[in-house]
Amino acid sequence: MEQENIETINTGNLLIVDLDGTVRSPRSDNKFIEHPGDQKIIPGAEGAIAYFASVGWKIVAVTNQAGVAAGKKSLTSCVKEQQQTMILLPEIEEVYFCPDFAGKKCFCVTPKEVRDYNKHQLSGSFRKPNPGMLLLVMEIYNPGKIMFVGDRPEDKQAANSASIKFQQADNWRRTYGDF
Ligand SMILES: [Mg+2]
Repeated sequence: MEQENIETINTGNLLIVDLDGTVRSPRSDNKFIEHPGDQKIIPGAEGAIAYFASVGWKIVAVTNQAGVAAGKKSLTSCVKEQQQTMILLPEIEEVYFCPDFAGKKCFCVTPKEVRDYNKHQLSGSFRKPNPGMLLLVMEIYNPGKIMFVGDRPEDKQAANSASIKFQQADNWRRTYGDF
């Protein structure tokens, strides 16, 4: 009998969510969140996340944050913004964000730390609609089932490029939001 390859043991099911327009929005009239406290959870997102957590799915987020490169927010502020989201929604275990237009950088934020994947071979493809952040998360988690939820065409395109099942955010919030 062939020996099992321990490298490929999967870690369960994984829900990946986009953040802006999918899970959260600014509290202010600004189009984008520019300060960590300027955010609220979109109705239905909390219930939908709670549902997936209750059936044992791990949940992580991926978000383009070129507002950093555009000078709208500092890298430090962007990290705090993601940690604030994880305070509001503790089921989200990690947030991966790409702060540059070239998609070369990717930071992973947890409630307590930050690590970067700027030298990873996927560097250059992190910014959606490129699939780099999704492929990175798949590499790290090696999940069984996987689904990505997002609100924009570039989210769907990234999911297609990564061969991941995609669900539109409004449909996802409507389907699971009452949980
Ligand atoms: Mg979005």
